[in-house]
Amino acid sequence: MIEASQPGFSGADIPSAAVYDACVRCGLCLPTCPTYLETMTETSGPRGRISLIKAVAEGELPLLSPGFVEQMSECLDCRACEAACPSGVRYGSLLERSRSQIETAVAPTRSAPQGALRRFALRTLFSNPATMRLAAKLLRWAQRSGVMWIAERTGFKDAAALAPRIPNRFFVANGQRFEAQPSLGVAFLHTGCVMHVAFPNVHEASIRMLRRAGLTVTVPRAQGCCGAIAVHTGQMEFGRELAKRNIEAFERSGADVYVVNAAGCGSALKEYGDLLAGDPQWHERAERFSSRVRDITEVLDAMQLDSHIGRIDALVTYQEPCHLVHAQRVSAAPRRLLAQIPGLTLREMDESAVCCGSAGIYNLTQPEMAGRLQRRKVGHIVETAATIVATANPGCALQVMAGLRERGDDVRVAHVVELLDEAYANYNAAATRA
Ligand code: SF4
Ligand code: SF4
Repeated sequence: MIEASQPGFSGADIPSAAVYDACVRCGLCLPTCPTYLETMTETSGPRGRISLIKAVAEGELPLLSPGFVEQMSECLDCRACEAACPSGVRYGSLLERSRSQIETAVAPTRSAPQGALRRFALRTLFSNPATMRLAAKLLRWAQRSGVMWIAERTGFKDAAALAPRIPNRFFVANGQRFEAQPSLGVAFLHTGCVMHVAFPNVHEASIRMLRRAGLTVTVPRAQGCCGAIAVHTGQMEFGRELAKRNIEAFERSGADVYVVNAAGCGSALKEYGDLLAGDPQWHERAERFSSRVRDITEVLDAMQLDSHIGRIDALVTYQEPCHLVHAQRVSAAPRRLLAQIPGLTLREMDESAVCCGSAGIYNLTQPEMAGRLQRRKVGHIVETAATIVATANPGCALQVMAGLRERGDDVRVAHVVELLDEAYANYNAAATRA
């Protein structure tokens, strides 16, 4: 709930005193915080950041003081602290509302071109699939024509390294329905912004796996961006607009479950109830919607899968997406699914639940810290000697791929669902040969 105006913060989306006052300063969250692990400084950890938020709320620190703005920006919003906190401090809501306060204060001071660029990125590029496809086509042309090679050797090295390798085709099944025979229910597949242009194979594998589990899959055209980037960058009102669009699309679809294969989107979609808590017309609908959202690994783990599964003879390690393990608390399901694949050996890496530095657009806004976390993560992956890293989020996949490429390590990065789908394809191939 939005509270009455407090000194330091004002208007809508104020960090709740009830939430920051729940922090008893025990410090149990500190060893889980990636930025604290890297810097070992109190202000770069959750307890220090909560103190800063409280200081601004109580008028002891100006909202736009450099230390406050820097810490709200340096935090990854990975929610590891929230999962570790015995007092149940909902740190994510404090951070997102603090960022919203900063964004509201800073937006009018931006130059016209800066403001226009931000609006284009958020409202046109990420939120409009047609614009995203156009941008992806341009990127694909740059990657194939050698323009990207020039970018890598000029001032755009970091952005070029993180850009996904755009495949020859996109996922274009929006508006279609894929029947299962017999059908146990209907799954709504969320297609998102980056996934449908950068990872069409993950969506295709998801449809095949859901059908193998007995679910008809519908991919309604009316759906859109989940709003995670808007909320994480402090643009809560725009996030609410996007949320309403998805709620309506799901209600009209008549589907039983809303399935997501990108952990960052899933966590935003599961929190629409909180996002729309102050809107009496939408709150109940949002709560109902969020209660039907599931990560695809949760869905497949709960269903009886077809027993015709083939082998993948490989050593695999699993990278936990923060927004799956910490925000959604889904950790065992992807591992149980991988364990069902004959021939596959799962070897855990150290710190698998510590953020890889991707965190939405963090690797673009905080490249130095993102690079440190990327190297830390890739080092742990390589130590396992795995030939495949499984994950369940496009941001993690891109960040880990870029880190492995930079080191020259030949380790494949794949979504859990892609590996499952491949195992089923291997069974069919073996049956055909026999
Ligand atoms: S674990 Fe929770 S209560 Fe303890 S310092 Fe961290 S946020 Fe505060
Ligand atoms: S969200 Fe992540 S980076 Fe931010 S304070 Fe919590 S653990 Fe640290």
